[in-house]
Amino acid sequence: MSLTTNDERLTTNLQLFNTLTRREEEFTPHDGRTIRMYTCGLTVYARGHIGNFRTFVALDVLRRALEYAEGYTVQQVRNYTDVDDRTILESAKAGKPLREHTQQYIDLFERDARALGLEPVESAPRATDHIPAMAGMIQALERNGHTYSSDGSIYFRIATFPEYGKLARLDHSGIKSGARVDSDRYEKEDARDFVLWKAMKPGEPHWEPGLPAGRPGWHIECSAMAVELLDHLPIDIHGGGIDLIFPHHENEIAQAEGATKQPFARFWVHVEHLMIDDEDKGSEKMSKSLGNVYNLEDVVASGFRGSTLRFLYLGTHYRKQLRFSWSAMAQAEEAIRRLTDFLARVDALPPGPANAGIHGKLEEAANAFRNAIRMDLNTAAALGVMFDLVRALNSAIDVGDLTQGDAAAVRRTFEDFDRVLGVLALRRQEDAEPPVPIEEIERLIAARRAARAARNFAEADRIRKDLDARGIVLEDSATGTRWKRK
Ligand code: AMP
Ligand code: ZN
Repeated sequence: MSLTTNDERLTTNLQLFNTLTRREEEFTPHDGRTIRMYTCGLTVYARGHIGNFRTFVALDVLRRALEYAEGYTVQQVRNYTDVDDRTILESAKAGKPLREHTQQYIDLFERDARALGLEPVESAPRATDHIPAMAGMIQALERNGHTYSSDGSIYFRIATFPEYGKLARLDHSGIKSGARVDSDRYEKEDARDFVLWKAMKPGEPHWEPGLPAGRPGWHIECSAMAVELLDHLPIDIHGGGIDLIFPHHENEIAQAEGATKQPFARFWVHVEHLMIDDEDKGSEKMSKSLGNVYNLEDVVASGFRGSTLRFLYLGTHYRKQLRFSWSAMAQAEEAIRRLTDFLARVDALPPGPANAGIHGKLEEAANAFRNAIRMDLNTAAALGVMFDLVRALNSAIDVGDLTQGDAAAVRRTFEDFDRVLGVLALRRQEDAEPPVPIEEIERLIAARRAARAARNFAEADRIRKDLDARGIVLEDSATGTRWKRK
């Protein structure tokens, strides 16, 4: 009887909230078992902050759920916006060429992404490497009568695309067709003809890909890369933070559909904001322009690790705002410890036979976990299932009901949870890596040896203390100095 119930549950597909229809819908791929997904990447004018990474982690959980809970193959493109108003402005301020200025933030993004357990994506293009695709799309839009030029710039005429506003649900009476907007980011109230290609300005980077000298607007970049790199339309999923619904994603639809006359994306997934409390203004969106950002370096400087932040993100459903605080981080760390302490207990179980009762509990939890994920990626509920199981199994250990005979099955269940959550594997990766790069430790040991040889004991002691504060302990012996993690 109970088996039938379980089987029925397993046939349900993932339910995913689609911004386009404002409903949860059953998700299956358009063709075969491969999911083609485009997620908007970082605008690389600064290091990504933990608000940006809330979105990237949520979309990573979506990717993992598709792969490991549903068994699909995922082909994901996540771009770098390396040319737009902000990257140009900041590189000019820094007095560096655009490519060099943006590269440092791409490098940092890759490092932070790894530190937060993001799976590598199949394609991570820089916009500036795909200018010909953008030009091609603009030319197709010209042929289909969607554009006009003014002062060397090319605009999308929104009146030529009657469906304009379908994603953001714009009230058409407010749309000022014929009026133009040149900036990449603007508000809903300013829905206008938007720029596809901006005329060259002195001192700005520019291209001439069969269009007048200039550079792409932000929105055309993603439409063109999605169509070029994901092969054919419609793609299965397009995602990003909630602030991208308008104008970015609305404009992406107008461009891709206006150029190809095909529907662009079947599912639109948007992640709510990470918020932070401000003494005067209450809870605010974390954003570079408001100056209220923390990045991963700040997280580490506060004594936390990437896995703690990832766990914190998972504790709130991705469509709800999440208020960041250091006390919430401390609670997240405590929860991870509860989990790793439990798994350490499982490693040290006394010998004994397998127990059918434990087996049943594991299966029940695995089903409940999968169901939570299938309900629009309810990671908060999935964590609840996992911790209920920890509690039940801890009690079973206390009374001797859980022994070595079930250890492998318990570990497997938690590993399966973690393929979607990505916290335990990340913690293991962190534990395996010293908190200070090995080359730096070796350099500091040599500097300390030199300081001692020069009888500068204060300096030698400072180096030892500095490493100690960063989690590395030095041990001196007759054969030299060795280091170990604290
Ligand atoms: P940007 O670099 O501004 O293009 O943003 C990169 C990604 O981060 C986009 O998907 C944004 O929607 C997202 N994002 C920006 N701020 C936040 C925030 N406070 N919380 C969640 N996601 C955000
Ligand atoms: Zn985009």
